[in-house]
Amino acid sequence: MSSKYILALDQGTTSSRSVLFDADYNVIETAQKEFTQYFPKPGWVEHDPLEIWETQLFTAREVLRKSGLNPSQIKAIGITNQRETTVVWNRHTGKPYGHALVWQDRRTASICEELKKGGHETEIREKTGLIADSYFSGTKLHWILQHVEGAKEAAQKGEVLFGTIDCWLLWNLTGGKVHATEVSNASRTMLYNIHTLSWDESLCTILQIPVSVLPAVYDSAHAFGKTEVSLFGAEIPITGILGDQQAALFGQGCYEPGMVKNTYGTGCFMLMNTGNQSIQSKHGMLTTLAWKIGNETRYALEGSIFIAGAAIQWLRDGLRFFEKASQSEEFAMRVPDSGGVYVVPAFAGLGAPYWDMYARGGILGLTRGTTAEHITRATLESLAYQTKDILDAMQQDSGITLQTLRVDGGATLNDFLMQFQADMVQVPVHRASMVETTVLGAAHMAAVQAGINSLEAINRNGRFRVFLPHEDKEKSAEKYAGWQKAVQRCMKWEEE
Ligand code: ADP
Repeated sequence: MSSKYILALDQGTTSSRSVLFDADYNVIETAQKEFTQYFPKPGWVEHDPLEIWETQLFTAREVLRKSGLNPSQIKAIGITNQRETTVVWNRHTGKPYGHALVWQDRRTASICEELKKGGHETEIREKTGLIADSYFSGTKLHWILQHVEGAKEAAQKGEVLFGTIDCWLLWNLTGGKVHATEVSNASRTMLYNIHTLSWDESLCTILQIPVSVLPAVYDSAHAFGKTEVSLFGAEIPITGILGDQQAALFGQGCYEPGMVKNTYGTGCFMLMNTGNQSIQSKHGMLTTLAWKIGNETRYALEGSIFIAGAAIQWLRDGLRFFEKASQSEEFAMRVPDSGGVYVVPAFAGLGAPYWDMYARGGILGLTRGTTAEHITRATLESLAYQTKDILDAMQQDSGITLQTLRVDGGATLNDFLMQFQADMVQVPVHRASMVETTVLGAAHMAAVQAGINSLEAINRNGRFRVFLPHEDKEKSAEKYAGWQKAVQRCMKWEEE
């Protein structure tokens, strides 16, 4: 049995999780704990930072206890986290200034409008790779400093610290000794210059952010610090940190330029590794830092699909076709094809590459013979069509031709969907055998710095099931043309 173990902390939007791996990345123990979601007003979403820390610590102690290991056998800790969520706290007391503003929180939308009106959009785009949106941390930090009692005054006195969730966990894990983050998380703040790899003074000035609140930014693989001995009974080194989507890209072994991962959950998150080049998208995709290891900085293009697995939930809960999302597969397989039906799940408008917030969903091509099975099949197919939409745009932006598509997330358990996806993009689809690649990415990153495994050794370890394209190109192109026609019919549906 291995004597080296890695503890990966996965701080997500709805739960905190800890996973204990051995040096061959076998899962030894897992523990998970949900925490409270606060919705104080429409469009506002908050978490209690102390509850995040407590649930994370609880799960970490739980996996250690269940494993029966001596804490000194844990050679490294890796952290992956919900990105953009913003915490502000007092450096002396550790007490947060109000709740964390979650990435979903839209309260700063009007601040973003102001930024656009002030002509700052291009500067933001060019320096940070992001669009001026309330999604990112910058305007959330501004809001907390302006609105939470005492925050601004304390910040002026140098008593306030800001961090994304990784930074908040690191600070608590090290007993308040280390205030730091790494490049992938920093690149989601809208305050970080992804080309010079430094906080941008001009953007901080525009958003009235004192530089003293910002954490140090290190490589993703780095000796960040050691855990306070009272927490686990040993000083465990924290050696890898990555934001969740970048961790999934890393956990999928997408180390080389042109490699793409797509995570099929409620929505889809697609990232393409573009190597040491930051590529500006012409299709509204984000440019972001993937990770930095030593001298190697990796960039990525990021595109997301708002409604993916959520469309299967709609078939289940809205149309009541079946009781479990997994039944969608046997439903779809009962018919040889979708019978010419297309489902466009534009329930909340359309994102990249269409960018039409007035689009609404549609079921097109109905005939007297259409059944629930056809509609289910067409809905599953819509996940694959939307993925192709973004992949085509990414290939145009980067000039890179896709060789394989690596996938993970709950909906990838659907074999029908995976086969249809391979047919649609006409490249092999590699499904990770361990569906949870995010937490694996954090473990891999921690292992690299801790010298437990080299990247090459980790890469050899990848276990996939491969779906090869079977359908001929013309036939799949014909189906895709039908999809594009259906999308056009759904666009600009709502009145502006
Ligand atoms: P998230 O992390 O966004 O909650 P998960 O990765 O847990 O998402 O995946 C859950 C989503 O995948 C749900 O939206 C569900 O409808 C969908 N899903 C789960 N299993 C299947 C399946 N076998 N076929 C199709 N969709 C599925």
